[in-house]
Parts: sequence; structure tokens; C-alpha cells
Amino acid sequence: MQHYQLYIDGDWCDAADGGKLDSVNPASGEVWCTCAVAGESEVNRAVAAARRAMSEGPWAEMTATARGKMLRALGDAVAQKAQHLGEIETIDSGKLAKETKMQTGYVSDYYYYYAGLADKVQGATLPIDKPNMHVYTKRVPIGVVAAVVPWNAQMFLTATKLGPALAAGNAVVLKASEQAPAPMFEFAKIVEEVGIPPGVINVITGHGEPCGRLLTSHPDVARVAFTGGPETAKHIVRNSAENFAIVSLELGGKSPIIVFEDADLEGAVNGVIAGNFGATGQSCVAGSRVFIQSSIRDKFLEKLVERAAQIVIGDPLGDDTQVGPLCTQAQVDHVSSSVKMAVDEGAKLLHGGKQPDGMAGQYYVPTILDCPHQDIQTVREEMFGPVLSALSFDTEDEAIALANDSRFGLGAGVFTENLARGLRVSDAIHSGIVWVNTYRAISPIAPFGGFKHSGSGREAGMEAMNEYTAIKTIWINTSSEPMANPFVMR
Ligand code: NAD
Repeated sequence: MQHYQLYIDGDWCDAADGGKLDSVNPASGEVWCTCAVAGESEVNRAVAAARRAMSEGPWAEMTATARGKMLRALGDAVAQKAQHLGEIETIDSGKLAKETKMQTGYVSDYYYYYAGLADKVQGATLPIDKPNMHVYTKRVPIGVVAAVVPWNAQMFLTATKLGPALAAGNAVVLKASEQAPAPMFEFAKIVEEVGIPPGVINVITGHGEPCGRLLTSHPDVARVAFTGGPETAKHIVRNSAENFAIVSLELGGKSPIIVFEDADLEGAVNGVIAGNFGATGQSCVAGSRVFIQSSIRDKFLEKLVERAAQIVIGDPLGDDTQVGPLCTQAQVDHVSSSVKMAVDEGAKLLHGGKQPDGMAGQYYVPTILDCPHQDIQTVREEMFGPVLSALSFDTEDEAIALANDSRFGLGAGVFTENLARGLRVSDAIHSGIVWVNTYRAISPIAPFGGFKHSGSGREAGMEAMNEYTAIKTIWINTSSEPMANPFVMR
């Protein structure tokens, strides 16, 4: 059976205490590989290696332009290996191969984007309010970065962190999720092949306790880039009380999609189906609450159910598959009990609500619930599975109020042919991203992140670059006179 070792300081190793985990292929429910699990000694070694790489050796001495070239080479190598990386990600996580291969191919664009930005990080000369002083700022690397990622889009979520972190001159310890860690070790092989100096990118895995805690509270970690669930994020913030690391949080959502009566209905159906059932609903931006204007409610629900019934469920490696398995059995159980609870609370099951007949593996049928109000389990809580809660509204103001009535604020969708309405509603929705007449579009150029309990900080775009630098201010006395007696006030 395939076994993955940890990648620390340019070397491959098992854990000193022999810790390892089994990784399950969700399509079969069978263990298909094992991975070494980092204990305290490996976490310490990885952080020390990253720290060393930033203070001595080739990485520390490299110009920003040369770092950019190295990131470009990493992007090229990821693009070349996209098919293989995507396949491993699919076997390990159950995410459709069509998506993982395409997404991994696109991931290289994130490395290219930040490769180009590496030598455009600049400080400023300040028009200071004192005579004979030359004062300027520099943006310097922030320090060792702990990148902690969930299982659902690891290649992508790694690129959004490593791109700006490395472009800015930092070194990284990447903690792969304990669910589906294999693609990250395949990525580490590429890091080695490309010749990224030892210690600049270290790849480990382990559970939140103790591995994640030890890493994110480590005294030599200066920056924690976290993507995951809101409950874990509370631990991350507490851990950062130990090292005062700057923390960014990319968390979950309960994103609304509003469909107005003037929408192009075919486009809106596609948007809702792709927005919620894409990635089998295991997406942070899943548009899992759809608000339909009352005048088109019945017609629209009918179309949605018709489309959901046509979704092909199956082997995530298959070319025709549209919805694959969920990553873990615990996730299937969570979705299943949440749907039962929603029905008990008054929701009407329009489609799905069960595991598919005669299929082994961790599958769940795409589910649509007609919900009379928002106080229902599947409307309030992130499902992270293929469950859509449908609600209706009469007026634009009501739609906005319902959409904003959530503790989350990551994504939102608006379907309307009225441009002014599209602009008004996108301004009024409290979320980090709004898509009008489209959904789930992303780009290295466009900042990504949430409001409220969906997190803080931004990934992608210029904004992310600054989040991996620290400002340093330099004061130079340009007077020809020696420094004045400090006890004589002038
Ligand atoms: P999770 O929070 O359980 O785990 C995420 C990572 O945190 C894993 O690597 C895990 O080992 C680590 N971790 C757990 N406990 C820790 C601790 N105490 N200290 C440090 N690290 C710890 O999330 P998951 O179930 O793997 O992923 C699903 C969640 O991720 C969903 O809520 C989803 O919305 C969110 N997500 C958000 C985005 C985004 O960009 N906003 C993208 C993808 C996924």
C-alpha cells in the first residue's frame, strides 16, 4: 500500500514516535494509503527549518525577482502534473476528477500571479513633519507562516496561501488535513523536483490535536493562514494568544442565492444547481439557501427538482459523474440527521433525503427542501453536503433581510435581468463576495474571503500580498549637526 512520509527541511521522514494514519477512498470506503503523522518533534523541526531558511542560505539571499522566477517554475510543474495531482486528490477526497484536474490546472495561475507580484512589493518615502529626517518604510517578510488547510480543495487553498507567502520571502509549514492528505505529499514531491531550497516549504499532516495546536501556537510562527470550520477557528484564535501570530480565517458559509421574477430562469436554475451541488455541496461558498420570488416559486422549484433528479451520482473518477461521494462517513451521518431534523421542524422534502439505493461508499442523493421559514436546521447551519434549502419572498427588501439573516457572510448570488436591482442588492448584502447572474467564479486577481463568522483577511488579489509582509519604518537623521541633547526641549 502507498505510504506517504512527511517533507521537512528538504528530507522525507516518518514520525519519531511512529505515528501514522490511514486514509480512506470515499468512493469505496476502503483504506488506500497511509501517512506519517507529525508529533511535537516533527512540528518543531519543520518550524526550525522554515526559520533557518528565512535567515540563512539561498532563500534568504535571493532577490525578489529570483523568488518570482522560482514561483513561476512551481506553477509550471503543478500545471504539468495537474492530471496526476487531480487524480490523487479524487481518490483521497472523493471530489470529482473533472473538478480536481481542472482546478489543479488553474491553481498554477495563482503561482504565476504571485510570481509577478514578488518584485512589486514596495514601501514609501514619507513627507515627515520634522526637519532633517529622511523616513521611509519597507515591506519585509512577516516570518514563518503556518498554513492550515481543510481537505476539500487542498491544492487550491494551498496555492492561495503559498503564492503570496513565498512571493513576499517567507517560509512555510503546510499542515495538510488529516482527511485526504495524500495530494499535499504529491505536491511536496514537486516542490523538491523544482529545487525550492530546503526548509522553504515543509509539508506535514496530523490531527488538530496535537499537531495543529502545536504548529499554530508555536513561538516561532508569526503568521497563521487558516481555512476550515468556525469551531476550529476558535481554537486557532486561542492558539495565537501564545505567539501573537497574525491570523487570517477563511471559514464556512450559508450563502444565499436570490432569484427574482425577472431572472433568466434557465440561467438561474444552472446557477443554483452548480452553486449548491457543485463539489457535492462540499464547498465553503455553496449557495445552500435559495430565495425565490413568490410569483415564480412553484415553476422554479419544479425546474430545480427536475434538474436535481437528472444529476448523475457515481464514481468520482468517472467522466459522466456530476455528484460524487462525501469525504467522510461522519459527513454522511451529519447530512442525513440534519435533513431528518429539518423535516421534523416543518420542511417539506422535494427531492433526495437519503443515500442512493444499491451504492456502496459514502454517497448522498442531492436533496431539496422546501422550508417555510429560516428557523430550520438546514437553513441555519452549514451542511457541507448536497442539501439545498428553498425559501420564498415577496419584495426586494424582504429578500435582502432574509439573505442577511445569518451569522455567516461568505458568498451570495443574485439572479435578475434588472441591472439597477443587481447593483442595489449586491451592495445591501453583507458578504465578502457577491455574484450577479453567475456563481462560484474565482480568480487569482479577485480577493476572496468573508464577513461575520465566515472569517477575516483576504486570499487572492493584491490585498493578500500585504497580509504576508510587515511594515518596517526607518528614520535617518540627515542633519550635519550631531544629535541634540534630549533633555533640552526645542
Ligand atoms: P476543519 O476546521 O475540521 O479542519 C481544517 C483544518 O484545521 C484541518 O487541517 C485540521 O486538522 C485543522 N485543525 C483542527 N483542529 C485544530 C486545532 N485545534 N488547531 C489547529 N488546527 C486544527 O475543517 P474541515 O472539516 O476539514 O473543512 C470544512 C470546513 O472548511 C467548512 O466549514 C468549509 O466551509 C471550510 N472551508 C472554507 C473555505 C474558505 O475559503 N472560506 C474553503 C474551503 C473550506
